[in-house]
Amino acid sequence: MIFFGSRGKTVAGQVVDGIQCPSCENKQFVTFGILKYFHLYWIPTFLTSKTVGIECTHCKKTLVGKELEPELAKQIKTTVFTKKNTLPMFSGLILISILVLFGAIAAQRDDMQDATYIEQPAINDLYIVNFTKVFNDTDSKHKYGVMRVKSLSSSQVEIQVSKIAYNKTSGVRKDIKERNTSADSYYDSELIYIDIGKLKEMKESGAIYSVERI
Ligand SMILES: [Zn+2]
Repeated sequence: MIFFGSRGKTVAGQVVDGIQCPSCENKQFVTFGILKYFHLYWIPTFLTSKTVGIECTHCKKTLVGKELEPELAKQIKTTVFTKKNTLPMFSGLILISILVLFGAIAAQRDDMQDATYIEQPAINDLYIVNFTKVFNDTDSKHKYGVMRVKSLSSSQVEIQVSKIAYNKTSGVRKDIKERNTSADSYYDSELIYIDIGKLKEMKESGAIYSVERI
């Protein structure tokens, strides 16, 4: 379940003189600001509005937002809201940005590593493969499987092809994680041979989805 919604926070301002209270005619007020923000799991994610108000020090009458003269409201805004009290309202957004950035960096690093593995194959490398892009007569629903490098020469890899295929790569990853892919019985007895130069093309076309080296 995702918890999100709108919340508010009041920030204290300062004492101002000279404005006359419409209720008691006192001429001293305290300013304040209201920050409304969107929260995700109670973490302020971004600001949705900034409103200011004043409260009479004598009778506690408050004037908020449009009840104030626009010029006065503008002036109070510049004194009440600071980076210190508004920036934390974007914590969630900043956090999300950092996570996205880290994700992108990790994905890029994975890609670079895959490229190296493809260029220099090693015995037992596992390729997560989209079978529909490798073979003609495959089940288009269950298209993700494994190819394992059984042996290699300077120009070719000898490949074992998994008997099992999944509709998602997560099924394949689970088999790899649980080491099911280590057993010869996981693969068809018929071997195929691929030129090492061809592997790069297969990676670029998405036939090889990713490379796992354990
Ligand atoms: Zn008053």
